[in-house]
Amino acid sequence: MFDVIERCFAKHGDKKYGEFVTQRQHALQCATLASQEGAASGLIAAALLHDIGHMLDESLGQKDPGDDLMHEVTGANFLSQWFPKAVTEPVRLHVVAKRFLTGNDPSYYETLSPASKHSLDLQGGPMTAEAQRQFLNVPFAREAIQLRRWDDLAKEEDLELALDLADFRALLEGLMERPATA
Ligand code: FE
Repeated sequence: MFDVIERCFAKHGDKKYGEFVTQRQHALQCATLASQEGAASGLIAAALLHDIGHMLDESLGQKDPGDDLMHEVTGANFLSQWFPKAVTEPVRLHVVAKRFLTGNDPSYYETLSPASKHSLDLQGGPMTAEAQRQFLNVPFAREAIQLRRWDDLAKEEDLELALDLADFRALLEGLMERPATA
C-alpha cells in the first residue's frame, strides 16, 4: 500500500495545486491541520489522501482523471482497496461538502477563490436548506465538512512543513483493513 501511495506522490506530487503550492505540499498541510486539531486517524489519512484522484495514472492501474470533476470518486474508489469508509467516504464527499458549506454559511462563500467559485457553479452551486439537511444524514458527511475546511486552508505558500509523507506511514498502515478470512 504505502509504496504505491509513495509512487503517486513521487510521480505527481510536484504538480501545482492552485497558484501557490504543489499537490504534495497541499496534502501534507491538510493532514497536518487535521492532526493538529486532534482528528481521528481515519480523518487524518483522508486529509492526506483526499486529492489522490489527481495523482493517479495508467501505470498505477488508473486513468489520470485530469480536470475531470470526479477526482474525489476516483480517489475514494482507489483508496477502498486498502482503507475503511472512515478514510474513503470523507474523500468521496469533500467536493460536495463545499456545496454544503456555501449553502450553510454565506461568509464561507466569500472566502473562495474565483477558481473555486467557478468550480462550485459547475458542481451545482450552494445547497438549499433541504439538501443540506439530507446531506447531514449521509454517513461521514460531518467528517467531509471538516476535511473541506482544512482543504481550503492548506494552500500556504512557503510554509515550513515539519512532517513528510513517510511520517504518516505508520498511521496509514494501522488503518489498513485486514483481508477477510475465508
Ligand atoms: Fe484539496
